[in-house]
Amino acid sequence: MIQEDLFKKIIAHCKEYGFIFQSSELYDGLSAVYDYGQNGVELKNNIKEYWWKAMTQLNEEVVGIDSAIFMHPTIWKASGHVDAFNDPLIDNKDSKKRYRADVLIEDYLEKINDKINKEVEKAAKRFGDTFDENQFRTTNARVLEYAAKIESIKANFVAALDANDLEKVRQIIIDEGIVCPVSGSRNWTEVRQFNLMFETKLGSVSEGANTVYLRPETAQGIFVNYLNVQKTGRMKIPFGIAQIGKAFRNEIVARQFIFRMREFEQMEMQYFVKPGEELKWFDTWKEKRMNWHLAMGINPEKYRWHKHDKLAHYANAAFDIEFEFPFGFKELEGIHSRTDYDLNQHQIFSGKKIQFYDNETEESYVPYVVETSIGLDRTFLSLLSACYQEEQVGEETRVVLNLPECLAPIKVAILPLVKKDGLPEFARTIMNDLKFDINCMYEEKDSIGKRYRRQDAIGTPFCITVDHQSLEDNTVTIRYRDTMIQERIPADKLSGIVKEKTDIKNLLKKL
Ligand code: ATP
Repeated sequence: MIQEDLFKKIIAHCKEYGFIFQSSELYDGLSAVYDYGQNGVELKNNIKEYWWKAMTQLNEEVVGIDSAIFMHPTIWKASGHVDAFNDPLIDNKDSKKRYRADVLIEDYLEKINDKINKEVEKAAKRFGDTFDENQFRTTNARVLEYAAKIESIKANFVAALDANDLEKVRQIIIDEGIVCPVSGSRNWTEVRQFNLMFETKLGSVSEGANTVYLRPETAQGIFVNYLNVQKTGRMKIPFGIAQIGKAFRNEIVARQFIFRMREFEQMEMQYFVKPGEELKWFDTWKEKRMNWHLAMGINPEKYRWHKHDKLAHYANAAFDIEFEFPFGFKELEGIHSRTDYDLNQHQIFSGKKIQFYDNETEESYVPYVVETSIGLDRTFLSLLSACYQEEQVGEETRVVLNLPECLAPIKVAILPLVKKDGLPEFARTIMNDLKFDINCMYEEKDSIGKRYRRQDAIGTPFCITVDHQSLEDNTVTIRYRDTMIQERIPADKLSGIVKEKTDIKNLLKKL
């Protein structure tokens, strides 16, 4: 399927099956804000549970918190967000569309890279089994020319960003002839910085208004609670603090559905370590986080590492886990070694000491931090993109979400074959037994085939059908989503089978 079509289908599917709705749709919608529906919220909660348990239950030294969205405004001054949480924006004068200048350039580089890949594909076809990709990439004149072009633009671009030289950023766009995707013109304004934080007022204006920000990341809530948690939990370094919560960014270009939203959810963990040991822990967390993704069973080729070319001034290593969304490989999670920058800044701005006293070595120090930061909504989208399948079954097309069983919104659908003869009552007894442990759905409307299709479309791994034979010999039919195989099993075995297969520990044990 063409990837663009797949993306459109996923968006439509999310709406049709109660996963995601446009926010305020009744009032024509609010751009880049979305609501999760009845199935979406279940899937999202299951992803959270998987992340939370992987972090806090499987790592003895990681604990969780839930800090407030509003924080003292000086925190955002200390963290650098007030002065530097900016995106460089540029407008096209003909289409009146606004873009992130850096994204325009990155997309342009990606297009050149696509050209390289096309050359490689063509050559691979031409040479067949004898093709040596590495040799081709390092010797073919056209490929080398494209690669050199990418390197030279990248170097200019990084230098311009480092020097905060916005005129130079614009010049790259002009020199490369980058056009507006909507108007096709090169009629650009200059590049300006735009702060992404939302502001609001705390208290009534007459009492003296105080500007506060909606947090653009959850991490700062962890840094400012470092001492509270360390002391009350008697934590010893190394230890981590995890948090799941909403974050807000006034994104300039908010396209691509839930990939880039103005209100979204992050799952972040800050791991506090002894200075000098951060790169060791950085490698450990890189590995742990990639394993977390791979344990979900999605094709490993959909994930790749991206090393940051331009490190933030306080970071000494940074990698992203990118996922191949229908619109290409994009950031899903960031793993950063942030040194002692944040805690130091909070020491300076609060005037309070934020240190760890090591009893063994009898020394005090400001811990270094390795962070893992993943977007919950992007994880949701990655799962849907990988698990949405269209299959030909006879004359029909079956749409199935083959989500990991334990993450599926509904684990078991209980379906009496007909609405009479005592079958609904029998089905209800099964439901009443299972519902304390797992999320079940009871459905008696429409033909059994239609009911199966609806459950496939929301990713329900098991359908249990109750028929007349069930009343005679206490057996039911279990139908498996992925294979569509149906088996007759004793009703009293059911609970054991489905509870075991849908337990989140199946994923956790792989870590
Ligand atoms: P991007 O470069 O895509 O804007 P970022 O590098 O600014 O992302 P971080 O600040 O590292 O992102 O945030 C950590 C994670 O939060 C990201 O990896 C992403 O999964 C998620 N995230 C960030 N911004 C958004 C957004 N606007 N909508 C949804 N998720 C987001």
